[in-house]
Amino acid sequence: MIVSVEHLSHSYGSRAALRNLSFAVEEAMLFGLLGPNGSGKSTLFRILATMMEPDEGRIVVAGVDAAAAPDEVRRRIGVVFQSQSLDKKLTVMENLTAQGHLYGLSGALLKERTSEALERLGLAERRDDIVETLSGGLRRRAEIAKAMLHRPRVLLMDEPSTGLDPGARRELADYVAELRDREGVTVILTTHILDEADRCDRLLLLHEGRKVAEGTPEELKARVGGDVVMLEARDAQALAAEIRRQFGAPVTRVNGTLRVEIENGHRFITDVVEAFPGRIDSVALHKPTLEDVFLDETGARIT
Ligand code: ADP
Ligand code: MG
Repeated sequence: MIVSVEHLSHSYGSRAALRNLSFAVEEAMLFGLLGPNGSGKSTLFRILATMMEPDEGRIVVAGVDAAAAPDEVRRRIGVVFQSQSLDKKLTVMENLTAQGHLYGLSGALLKERTSEALERLGLAERRDDIVETLSGGLRRRAEIAKAMLHRPRVLLMDEPSTGLDPGARRELADYVAELRDREGVTVILTTHILDEADRCDRLLLLHEGRKVAEGTPEELKARVGGDVVMLEARDAQALAAEIRRQFGAPVTRVNGTLRVEIENGHRFITDVVEAFPGRIDSVALHKPTLEDVFLDETGARIT
C-alpha cells in the first residue's frame, strides 16, 4: 500500500466534513474519490496534501507518517489544486522553471526535469506559449507537469476534470493513465463527474464525509441488480405502489420519475405498459451507472 488512511475525522466548527474514513491505495493505481458537492472531497484532499491536519486519524504515504514528517510526505507527492496555480501571463516553461526553483532545482538538472515533465504531458511544442492562450485541457496538463517536476510517487488532484469538455477530459485521462503505466505513479483524484470516475481503477464513494462503497467501477455497478428502467407518469406515487405490488420490484422516486431496478428490463417495459394502459407517459432503460450505485447506497444523487 502506498497510501493508507486510518480513521480520519475532521470538522469545521460543528460541521463534520469527514467521519471515521479509512481506505488504502495500492501503488501504480488510479484511485478515485467520487461524491457530490459537500461530501468532503476537498477536505480529504487538503489533509492528504498535508495542507491541513485532521482532528483525528492517521495518514501514511510510502511508509512515512504525515503527522510525524510532513516534509518527507511532501517530497513524495505532487499536488494539483482545484483552482489554477499557474501564472497566466508567463509561458509554460517559465511556470515550470519558477516551480523548479522553489524545489531547489537549477542548471542542468532543472533543464532535464522540465523537459521530462513537458514531454510526459505532451507539452513540448507548447513550452513557449503564454498560459492564458492555452485551452482548459492544456492548462490542466501544464498544472500536472508542474506537480511532477520533483518526480513524486503519488499525484493528488482535486476535481481535475471540472470545467473541461468530454473530449479534453478523455485526453487528460489518457495522459494520467500513461503516468501510471509508464512511471508507476499512483494517482488519487477527487471527482463528481461520472465518466471521469468510470476511468478509475478503483473508487471510493463518499457521502457526507463517510465511505458508502468501495470497489472497481465494474464491481460497484454489478451491485445494482439487472437493468434500470425510468418511468414518467402523472400519478407516479400511486403507480409506484401498484408496480411494487404487481412486479415485486423495488421502485424509488427520483425527482418525480420512477426508477425500477429489474432483471430483463426490456421485458418489464412491455409488461408494465400493458398492465397500466395510458398511465405511463415515457419509458427509458439503461445499464446501471455509478449514479445508480450512489442512489442505492444513499438515496441521494451525485450530479
Ligand atoms: P467537496 O469538496 O466534496 O465539495 P468539502 O470538503 O469542500 O466537500 O466540504 C465538506 C463540508 O465541509 C461541506 O459541508 C462544506 O460546507 C464544509 N466546509 C468545507 N470547507 C470549509 C471551511 N473552510 N469552513 C467551514 N466549512 C467548510
Ligand atoms: Mg471540493
